[in-house]
Amino acid sequence: MVKPVIIVHGGAWGIPDRLVDANIKGVKESVKAGWKVLEAGGSALDAVVAAVNVMEDNSSFDAGIGSVLTEDRTVEMDALIMDGSNLDAGAVAGLKDVRYPIRLARKVMEETPHVMMIGEGANRLADEFGLERITQEELVTEEARLEFEEWSEKAEYGDSFGHDTVGSVALDRDGNIAAATSTGGVTGKKVGRVGDVPLIGSGGYADNRVGGVSTTGHGEAIMRVNLAKLVLTYMEMGMHIQEASDKALGYMALRVNGSGGLIALDADGNMGHAFTTKRMVWASIKDGELETGI
Ligand code: ASP
Repeated sequence: MVKPVIIVHGGAWGIPDRLVDANIKGVKESVKAGWKVLEAGGSALDAVVAAVNVMEDNSSFDAGIGSVLTEDRTVEMDALIMDGSNLDAGAVAGLKDVRYPIRLARKVMEETPHVMMIGEGANRLADEFGLERITQEELVTEEARLEFEEWSEKAEYGDSFGHDTVGSVALDRDGNIAAATSTGGVTGKKVGRVGDVPLIGSGGYADNRVGGVSTTGHGEAIMRVNLAKLVLTYMEMGMHIQEASDKALGYMALRVNGSGGLIALDADGNMGHAFTTKRMVWASIKDGELETGI
């Protein structure tokens, strides 16, 4: 039997002081929800979904309720889940009214022959499986409106605007690794913009033979270097998980001038976390011990 481990993040960006306490509290609640599943003998997949659901419901993060706003002041959400035991994956993009996007991503993975779904088809699937819906009014928070106002004065993308995507990676007793990432994207994005999150290898990756990763940060940079998969490639080349995490972010900075962060787990339960933004909020539980940082 393998010792279970779980790690979560609540986004890498210039997290303002006013959000620090809420963010730390949020990742702690999230990691505890995931740990509860693992401790009871549950699967890594169930654990990452439980952890992400807590943050999708927490308005201090950019996922589910609290998602940041598009140029039209609407919410469009992306999510990805991956099962490291068989490399199955499910992704959704541009969701407007599904309360827990990560649950729909899992349905895509487990109940359809497809990997990624968008638009009308994704909505139909949500209906078919009776997934909870939510209105745009309920998704849009005061914080997101405020951030949009601040953003519109500058109208540029950078560290200081909403990158509080959420994610989790877990290793369960059977040695299975799962990764999940969920986001509202970046403030002021164009309607129809899809970021890195639902792209396999960019927003996340899981492979029992190597490890699992969930990323956050500048999506347009992350997707061009396949950040999550890059970490695992470096690990396969023999690097320790922390070195691989740092090196992948370094490569992204060097080649595409992008900043971001990531959490990682290897098949032995070693953890890595790294960021090149001002802050990244994360939490982990290993051997029953909770650790957190920002
Ligand atoms: N990577 C996300 C995106 O570009 C944003 C984030 O991580 O906060 O959609």
